[in-house]
This record gives sequence, structure tokens and C-alpha cells, in this order.
Amino acid sequence: MDTQQDVTVKSWDGTWTYHPRVRVTPESVDDLVEIMTDTVRFPTPVRPAGSMHSTARMNGDDEGGTMVDMKAMNRILHFSEDTVTVEPGVTHDELTRALKARGLQPYITTEIGNTTIAAFACAATKDSSFPGGFGQVSSYVTAVRLVTPQGEIREISEADNPKEMQFLRSSYGLFGLIFEVTIKVRPTTAMSMRHYSMTLESFRKFFPVYKARGYAVMYYIFPYAKRVVVELRKDNPEVEPKSRLQWAYRNRFWRKYAPAVTLWIDKNVTNRKWHARAQDFFFYTLRQLMVWFVRSERSWPHAQIINYPRNPGKTKYLFSMWSFREENFFDILEDYCDFCIFHESQTGFRCNLPSVGYAICRDCEALLSYTWEGPGMSIDPASTGGPEWEEFLLSYNAFCSERGGTPLFNQTPFLNREMARRAFGPRLQQFAARRQELDPDGRLLDQHFRELLS
Ligand SMILES: Cc1cc2nc3c(=O)[nH]c(=O)nc-3n(C[C@H](O)[C@H](O)[C@H](O)COP(=O)(O)OP(=O)(O)OC[C@H]3O[C@@H](n4cnc5c(N)ncnc54)[C@H](O)[C@@H]3O)c2cc1C
Repeated sequence: MDTQQDVTVKSWDGTWTYHPRVRVTPESVDDLVEIMTDTVRFPTPVRPAGSMHSTARMNGDDEGGTMVDMKAMNRILHFSEDTVTVEPGVTHDELTRALKARGLQPYITTEIGNTTIAAFACAATKDSSFPGGFGQVSSYVTAVRLVTPQGEIREISEADNPKEMQFLRSSYGLFGLIFEVTIKVRPTTAMSMRHYSMTLESFRKFFPVYKARGYAVMYYIFPYAKRVVVELRKDNPEVEPKSRLQWAYRNRFWRKYAPAVTLWIDKNVTNRKWHARAQDFFFYTLRQLMVWFVRSERSWPHAQIINYPRNPGKTKYLFSMWSFREENFFDILEDYCDFCIFHESQTGFRCNLPSVGYAICRDCEALLSYTWEGPGMSIDPASTGGPEWEEFLLSYNAFCSERGGTPLFNQTPFLNREMARRAFGPRLQQFAARRQELDPDGRLLDQHFRELLS
């Protein structure tokens, strides 16, 4: 296996920097056992890394330890009628392509294609839920095999040990190095999708109707205009899937063109009043484009997926995410718009991309699920980054925590222990206690998680 000493590794966009003593790229289970048991060559903490697309710090301490790059273990192992078993480094995009070729699809097709399946299995995910389904991808994971902190091979499955699966689905690489994941899949079904632009009041009024009609509801939030564009998706089994171009245009836009245009405005329109006007006009145009062009009755579900390239330069799409109970959401959404406007008036900073959000079903399959207590709706501010964005996120975290929001450890940067404790309560203690039982020497525990769980 490839081993490098004292390297500098950055997350996909450069937000997080790591200086592990060793960075290792295992290719087999034997390699993983060796990494876990040889504490001299592979110093503690051992932290697994997928494609490093988490927006929060996930892959180790600033200095020292071992970063285990799991991407070389990336074979699709076998299919059954309704499951697929893969190695940990297979990405969501690779998996969905292989499924498509067999007339299959995942239950949840998150927008991001880069995420590795092991990360899906043990970390939080977001995508608007189809009624009757689970909220998060990990809930469709039926079994995993991993190498424990003691270097033993262990299998955990929903059939044999549902309680342990609940822990595992929120384990963030703290229970072991996952080397095999089995996940449920289903036949490919065409999907209809539409976008509607509306005021916050209309969204509040129509949301129950969308739910009653069985739509998966995602939304773009334009806080400075106090408007949303609602995306409604639904299975359409009556027709064969055909179209994908609408998604392709949308994806290209979010990945590249929207950040590029907004950065152009930031750079070239320096007068505050005209800057705000230029951005408002751009967002207005975006809303019209989405409503008129991103629509189809028979799209391929796989076509929603976006690959975000490593080292994207300035044109990157960054976000954070907190979820709220559905019943309080619409008041909080109004507060959020006021919060953004107030923050701008105090600091001059505006989020230069629309925020997004997802309506997510209740899901108790993962212990640290953000919809444990009931269906949730999220608010995910987005931007092309920078120091002022990070300042904004610190205030946003406080805003959400005060309003009973729940974060995602992998998708909410700059969390502190108090926020985690407030959001997860006794579940955090349960998780910490189980982690301590499985890894009493802290072989996999870095400083970030030590603080969050202490
Ligand atoms: C631009 C952008 C768009 C995004 N869009 C979405 C979206 O639409 N939906 C969504 O859900 N998420 C989205 N995300 C977030 C992303 O999917 C998650 O943060 C995901 O966890 C990242 O996976 P990764 O493979 O990069 O893993 P990493 O970030 O490297 O790691 C995530 C966690 O998994 C653990 N891990 C990784 N491999 C293993 C292993 N083999 N064994 C044990 N533990 C392991 C790591 O230790 C870590 O705790 C987006 C992120 C970006 C940057």
C-alpha cells in the first residue's frame, strides 16, 4: 500500500487542512488490519477519509495521526435482486451509473456524486424525501463489514443487530474502517419535476398540499428578496425515463456558472447599493430560468447527480446545514431572512448564492439523525466562501442552536460541544458511551470528535 510521511492534505475546496504524520492508501482488508494494529508505523488517531467533500472538519487533527485514504478500495462486488454490495471508496456517481446499466437506482439520489458509499453509510446525508421512505441514505444500508480499532473483522447487519446499525449509521469513522457496504436499491422509475417561484407566505400555505400530493419538496431560498423557488419531484411510473438535459443544465449552473457570475458581481460592482441590485437581478433571472426550463415529466433520476471537482478554484459551492421541526419551520424561515438582512446591515456581507433547503421524513434508523423527533425542514446557506462567510456561519450556528435546530456533524462547520449537546441531548451521551466501549484507547478518536463528544 502507498504510504506518505508528513504530508499536507486539503479537503476538496481547501477549507480544511490536515498535516497527518502518515497518509496511507490501503488496497485490501489485510492492509486495513495492518494499519489498525501497527501503532508505531500508523500513529493514533487513525482517521478514514472518503472523497473529503464534507463541509465540516472530518478527517483528522491539524497535526499528526494517520489519514487513511479509502478511495483505492472501489470495486462494486455483487448485486442481488434488491441490494448491491460495494467497497467503501465507490462514489455515489459510480454506483448510480452501474445501477442504471442494470435498470436500477438508489432509493435516495443525493445531488452530490463525489460522496463515497462508506461515508453515506456512517455519516449524515440530505435530499428531499419521497413520502413513505427514509430520510437518509444510511437507513437503506442493510449491512457493513469493518475492521475494528483492535484490528478484528466485524460484520454488522440490520437483520442481526438493528440497534448496533443505528449506532453505526452515525459513527463518522469512529467505530472502525468500513470495507464493505450493502445497500438497498430499486428499479429505475421516471421522475417528474417542476419548479415554482413564490413568496414565503405562499410556500407556507402550499407546503401541506405538496405533502398531501406525495411530492418530495426541495427549495431554493432567496433571503434578501424573501422568496423561494420550490422544486417538486415525484415518481412517474406511467412513462419510461427519457430526459436528462434539464438536469445537466441545472447541474452545470450550480457547479460552475452561478458561482462564476456571482463572483464577477462581487469583484466588479463595488458600490454597495448597485452590488445588491446586480445580485438581486441575477437571482431574479435564476428564478425565471428554473421555473421555465428545469421541468420534465420523465427525467432520469440518475441525471440529478453533480460531480464537484477537487480544487475547484474560486468558483466553488459551499454550504452549511441545520434542520428544524416541520411545525416550527415557516416562522424560522422568516426569521432567517431577517437574520440575513440584519447581518448584511451590520457587516456588509451577503451570501452570494441562494440558500437551499430540504423537507426530510422522520428517520430513527441512525442514532444522531437530524429528523429523529419528527419530519424536518432544513435551511442551508450557500456561498463561494471566504473569511466573511465563515464569520456568517458562526452567527448562523448561534441563530439555529437558539431555535432548536439540529446540525449534521459532517455538513455543519464550526459546531461546538454545547450546540451538539443541545441538539442531540441524551443520544449524544449514548453514542459517546458506545464509542468508548468499542474504542477505549481512542485509536480512531481525533481532537474534533473528542471535544464534540466529551
Ligand atoms: C458541493 C457539495 C455538495 C454536496 N451535496 C450534498 C448533497 O446533495 N447531499 C448530501 O447528503 N451531502 C452533500 N454534500 C456533503 C457530502 O455528501 C457529505 O459531507 C459526505 O459525508 C462526504 O463524503 P466523502 O466521501 O467526501 O467523505 P469524507 O468527507 O472524507 O468523510 C465523511 C465521514 O465518513 C467517514 N468515512 C469515510 N470513509 C470511511 C470508511 N471507509 N470507514 C469508516 N468511515 C469512513 C470519515 O471518517 C468522515 O467521518 C455535499 C458536499 C459538497 C462539498
